[in-house]
Amino acid sequence: MIESKRKITILGSTGSVGTQALDIIKESQRYEVYALTCNSSINKIVEQARCHLPKYVVIYDDKYYIELLKALDGLPIHVLVGMEGLIRVVTDEEVDIVLTSVVGNIGLKPTVEAIKAGKIIALANKETLVTAGEIIMPLAKAYGSKVLPVDSEHSAIFQCLNGESSSTVDKILLTASGGAFRNFSKDEIRHLKATEALKHPNWSMGRKITIDSATLMNKGLEFIEAKWLFGVSSEQIEVVVHPQSIIHSMVQFKDHSVIAQLGVPDMRVPIIYALDYPERHYNSVKSLDFTQLSALTFEKPDLDRFPCLGIAVEALKLGGTMPTIMNAANEILVDAYLKDKIGFYDISDTILKVMNQFSNIKKPTLEDIFETDIETREYVKKLLG
Ligand code: MG
Repeated sequence: MIESKRKITILGSTGSVGTQALDIIKESQRYEVYALTCNSSINKIVEQARCHLPKYVVIYDDKYYIELLKALDGLPIHVLVGMEGLIRVVTDEEVDIVLTSVVGNIGLKPTVEAIKAGKIIALANKETLVTAGEIIMPLAKAYGSKVLPVDSEHSAIFQCLNGESSSTVDKILLTASGGAFRNFSKDEIRHLKATEALKHPNWSMGRKITIDSATLMNKGLEFIEAKWLFGVSSEQIEVVVHPQSIIHSMVQFKDHSVIAQLGVPDMRVPIIYALDYPERHYNSVKSLDFTQLSALTFEKPDLDRFPCLGIAVEALKLGGTMPTIMNAANEILVDAYLKDKIGFYDISDTILKVMNQFSNIKKPTLEDIFETDIETREYVKKLLG
């Protein structure tokens, strides 16, 4: 008997993770693509749809609906639109796994609905846990939905914890590449433009996350995610800069034994690990050649040159809607930095200002989080003029 393929919906299929996911899915032949979704990248999603022939394609921005309908005319593919469309393709009974690789807060609502439908969530959308970790994790437990990390660091930690009880964990060592500006002084960084940061050394990532990597905000967001995913305290997470990106994170146990997960920096590995979990299969990713590694080095993160990491940890400690405020402000400011409208340190300076300006809702509902997100964005946009 041939085992039937598992059906997957990819939220945000045209982004960096979505694209790499489709590569490895095609190679594995263990999955049937049920639905592909994007915000507005119509050409790319049409190309993906022709290649993978999903049952559904969803476009979030309704401006492109007619154009998409025409482009897919004659193919056995249904076209849906907007949030309603997204929710439909993550909750449909046929769907086994939802990969949430959409960037931004827009991923939160469909992720919540997929959890309520009991789906396996391969989580690549950072905002879900950053803004609503305190609500999401208990919700997943209540609905019997598994949340499996896709981010390389959290996948590494998840793998290190395989078969271990969480009570045996002493601390999580979250590794960071250090970003594109790691070797520059504060005065140099002050004048560096986004185009410099986009020449990121190790990982193939989207533009927003590459800037987040240069500011270390990416590590701050991952710090918050790690807290919720693995149920540890902030004091149990330590960020270690490891520029080679060969160790993808580590766990130190109470007996002071440390387990690390290593590999070439290639997102396809953590993506397919989350999808195949708990199985492992051969793939075409390069294997690590230890004889070619000159050194693995480690250093402390510099919170003076890269204040965003400290700000994120502070936002987590303040809790409530503070991580949402920080995240929303960061998204708008990174966009402005990418457009060369502000300088590098305007990102951290303005986030701090906004966090001081907004009052914190201590026990927020999902609605509070959505509203705070929108309010913060509007406020920061006004600040920027
Ligand atoms: Mg990462």
